[in-house]
Amino acid sequence: MARAYIVPEKAVDTSIKKIFDVEKIRKDFPILSTEVYGKPLVYLDNAATTQKPQCLLDTIEQYYKGINSNIHRGVHFLSEKATTNYEESRVKIRDFLNAKSTNEIIFVRGTTEAINLVASSYGNKNIKEGDEIILSMLEHHSNIVPWQLLCERTGAKIKVIPINNKGELIIEEYEKLITDRTRFVSVVHISNSLGTINPVKKIVRIAHERNIPVLLDGAQAAPHIKIDIQDIGCDFYAISGHKVFGPTGVGVLYGKENLLDSMPPYQGGGDMIETVTFEKTTYAELPHKFEAGTPNIAGAIAFGSVLNYVNKIGFDNILKHENDLMEYANEILDSIDDLRIIGTAKEKSSVISFLLGDIHPYDTGTILDRLGIAVRTGIHCTQPVMDRFGIPGTVRASFAFYNTKYDIDMLVRGIKKVIDMFS
Ligand code: PLP
Repeated sequence: MARAYIVPEKAVDTSIKKIFDVEKIRKDFPILSTEVYGKPLVYLDNAATTQKPQCLLDTIEQYYKGINSNIHRGVHFLSEKATTNYEESRVKIRDFLNAKSTNEIIFVRGTTEAINLVASSYGNKNIKEGDEIILSMLEHHSNIVPWQLLCERTGAKIKVIPINNKGELIIEEYEKLITDRTRFVSVVHISNSLGTINPVKKIVRIAHERNIPVLLDGAQAAPHIKIDIQDIGCDFYAISGHKVFGPTGVGVLYGKENLLDSMPPYQGGGDMIETVTFEKTTYAELPHKFEAGTPNIAGAIAFGSVLNYVNKIGFDNILKHENDLMEYANEILDSIDDLRIIGTAKEKSSVISFLLGDIHPYDTGTILDRLGIAVRTGIHCTQPVMDRFGIPGTVRASFAFYNTKYDIDMLVRGIKKVIDMFS
């Protein structure tokens, strides 16, 4: 059974003076000073995964060297210490998201598992044949397939909010899609393929006026903007550690306590139970009810430590720096003949998806790779977006706060080389 843990008031130190020095920050990320094919790495694939600061690597090393033990079950020193660090990390995440309680913070493997958890647990209980679930055209496959599986199980239906030619959600159409059979809305906060920042507060407000719960896929939002769950007002929010400079294999589902309380467990096993007999099992309290089995303990602890690091850099600084990068990149890329940017939303985050004439994105990506430039090519797990624009995929450059104008200059030089090679 989960051991009681006293939750501190505030775990994240936001008092540190915030001076933004990108060159100094880059030194915190060992991989950024490596080379590929003998060329300095230019890493522009941050929407796929972000790079890791030394403090994260140190936390993982220290954990396995000096703390490694299983949590919640042991009376011995190491187990107590691992449990304390694990639960302290939950507090850091609560503060990072501005959730009300650590009971609302469930450790999962990532955004994908968080959405599957809600679609299975909340969905199986509350969604029936003929009910409707609203998604948007911008969704990552992770926020489509779990709902399709639920529809197959229950006979519910999916409705899709369309987008305009800029890649923005058409909110009037969203309102029209809502009927008295709408039972759930699940929408991405920031699109991973186009960078569109959705008006999530408005989306939540419209749904809540009809008592419809809302899940937001925050995988791409958490690394770029300050998330204030209470201000947004959503019912569920999903993030992945590895997109926020943390480890792979750990993420968080935020859920409002009353909803999580009312939901059945997602998986059964150790740690999520109170008592077990062959006749009847009773479940642990939140948040443990949803954390069956041994979790990624080192990953969860390291995720908390890296959020402290991100907070010290400060989201004001991150936003300003990334906006400068976006402005700089857009201006130069716009001036290249034959380059077409896909996704030109007014509210846009650090992603630029583009095509070069009729050159296949895969060819562009391969040539850029040989120049040491890491971008992503393809459909970015958003096939409906590509179908909407009638394209096979895009080349996607995505930025983080450690990127520089030099990185963009290298990208532009690479793009010109690709164009030259194909002309
Ligand atoms: N949602 C969005 C918007 C994403 O960008 C991603 C990953 O790229 C996911 C969900 C899935 O995240 P994960 O693979 O970490 O579960």
